Amino acid sequence: MALDYKLGSIVEMKKQHPCGTNKWEIIRVGADIKIKCLECNRTIMLPRIEFNKKVKKVISNEA
Ligand SMILES: [Zn+2]
Repeated sequence: MALDYKLGSIVEMKKQHPCGTNKWEIIRVGADIKIKCLECNRTIMLPRIEFNKKVKKVISNEA
């Protein structure tokens, strides 16, 4: 499934972060995708293929 996301997109992941939210902002797009938790500001980096598997939906595309 092709998801329309880009830098600044807010996405929802399938798995909830321990801090209680599952909304993340995309802060880097490349071979790896870097996302920042909107609640606790923790960042994680995932290979794009891995990200595509773990993302549930794109909530907002507004930067
Ligand atoms: Zn968090």
